[in-house]
Amino acid sequence: MTITLEELVSLCKRRGIIFPSSEIYGGFAGFFDYGPVGVEIRKNLLDWWWDFFVRQRDDVLGLYPAIIMNPRVWIASGHVERFIDWIVECKNCHGLYRADELLEEKGIKITDYSPEALSKLIKEHNVRCPSCGGELSEPRKFNLMMETYIGPIKDETSIAYLRPETAQAMFVNFKLYVTYARNRLPFGIAAFGKVFRNEISPRGFIFRCREFEIAEIEYFIDPERANDCPYFHEVDKIIVKIWTKETQKKGEEPKEMSIGDAYNDGVFSNMWHAYWVGKSLEWFSQIGISLEHLRVREHLETELAHYALQTFDIEYYFPFMGWKEIEGIANRTDYDLKHHMKFSKEKLYVPLSGRKVIPHCIEPSWGVERTFFAVITEAYTKTSDGRVFLKLHPKLAPYIAGVYPLLSREPFITKAREVHKLLKKKFTCYLDVSGSIGRRYARADEIGVSFGITIDHQTLEDDTVTIRFRDTREQIRVKISDLVKTIEELIEKWE
Ligand code: ATP
Repeated sequence: MTITLEELVSLCKRRGIIFPSSEIYGGFAGFFDYGPVGVEIRKNLLDWWWDFFVRQRDDVLGLYPAIIMNPRVWIASGHVERFIDWIVECKNCHGLYRADELLEEKGIKITDYSPEALSKLIKEHNVRCPSCGGELSEPRKFNLMMETYIGPIKDETSIAYLRPETAQAMFVNFKLYVTYARNRLPFGIAAFGKVFRNEISPRGFIFRCREFEIAEIEYFIDPERANDCPYFHEVDKIIVKIWTKETQKKGEEPKEMSIGDAYNDGVFSNMWHAYWVGKSLEWFSQIGISLEHLRVREHLETELAHYALQTFDIEYYFPFMGWKEIEGIANRTDYDLKHHMKFSKEKLYVPLSGRKVIPHCIEPSWGVERTFFAVITEAYTKTSDGRVFLKLHPKLAPYIAGVYPLLSREPFITKAREVHKLLKKKFTCYLDVSGSIGRRYARADEIGVSFGITIDHQTLEDDTVTIRFRDTREQIRVKISDLVKTIEELIEKWE
C-alpha cells in the first residue's frame, strides 16, 4: 500500500526517529533532531557509506574537516559570489520563494534555469504568490551561505561562513593528500559532516533542511587518462533510467540503459564520471533502494553549478512527492584547484613522470538526510491488514534484536535478561518486558528491528528460544547456545 508523507512523518515522531528541532518553542524551519531510533539508523547508514567507499577501497583516504574555514576559501571557490538560488518576492505580502521550485510545484517543466527564462515562465503561466495570490517580482540572486562572526568584534572583518559543502576542505588540503597518496593518481578524499545552507523555503520534511549532513568524495584523476578506469567492469552492466539533457529538452522520457552503453554513447563527460554514477547506484541498491525507483538525470547547462562541467543527479521516486535528487555527481574539472592556486599561491599539482598534473575531479556528493529519507520511504511497508514494518537491511536496522519474555513476570524476565546480556555483546539489541507480546512485536516492526527473540514456557524447560522474522513473522526455535551464531548467519545471508 502506498505511503503518505503524513504517515511517515507521524511514524518518525512517534517512534523516536526524527522530529523538528526545538519544538517546545514552535520548532525552527529546516532544522531537525534524530531520536534514539533515528540516530542508530543514521549512524549505520554513514558507517556503511564509509565502509563501502573508504575502507573497502585502497584509493580513497578519509578527512574529517573543520566546519569553519578561512573565509578566503569561499572567495576563492566562487561561493561568496555565485552560490546562489533565484528568489522571487510577492509584491503584496512580501513572501519569498525559490523561483524554480515554485514553477516545478505547479508542474511547469523548466528547460532553462536562467533568471530571464524563469521570469518568462512565471509570466507565461501567470504564476502568483501561493499564499495571497499577489504578483511576483523579477527573480533576484540569493546567496545560500550562512554567516557567523569569529572573535570578539562583530563587524565585516570578522565574518566567516558555515560551510555549505565539505568539498573545499578536500581541495585546500590537496597538497598534503598528494603526499599521503604518494604522488600517485588517481586517488580520492572522502569527508562527511554537517553543512549549512540558508534555504529560502525549507520543506518536504527532511528533504530540504537548513542544516544537514553531506558525505562527499573528491576523486582526482589525470585528465589525460580520464577514460582509463580499471574498475569500470564493476558497474558497466547496471541498468537504470538515464535522462540526458538532450532528451529533457526534447520533452522525451528517460531511457533505460546500462551504464556501459550510456558511456559508449557519449552520455558521460568521461569514464570515471560514468564509473562514479555506477558505483553510487551499486551502493544505493545494497542499502535497499531498488534501482527501479532511481533515475539518473543530467543537469541542463543553465542549471549547472558554477564549478561544474557536467553533473548527474541520482533521483529517487518518493511516492508522495515524485522524483527528487538524493545525490549529485559532478565533474568539477580542475576548477577548484586552479582557483585555490591563484588565490593561495600554493602549487596544487601532482608530479607525474616529469609532468606537473593538475588533476580533474569527479565529485559524488550524497545528502545524508535525503538518503535516509529515501531508505525509510523504501523500507516502509504496510500490509493489507494494516500491519506496518520498516523492511530495513540488518546493517541499517536500529536494533538487530528485541528480546521479549512471553509473560511479563518471573522467571521469564530473569531468563530474558540473561539472553539480552548474551546478545548485546555482539549486536545492538534491547529488552522489552512491558505490554502484550503482540504489541511488543508491532512496536519493533515499526522501527525495523530485524529479529524478535522470545523467551517462552519451553525456554524454561530446554533452554531454547524462538527467533521471529520481522518481514514474514515466521518463527524458528534455536538453542540459546546457538543463538549468536544463528543470528550472525542470518545477517550474512540477508538479501
Ligand atoms: P537542490 O537542487 O535540491 O537545492 P543541490 O543540487 O544544491 O540540491 P548539491 O549541492 O548537489 O545539492 O548537494 C549534494 C547533496 O546534498 C544533494 O544531492 C542532496 O542530497 C543534499 N542536499 C542539498 N541541499 C540540501 C538541503 N537543503 N537539505 C537536505 N539535503 C540537501
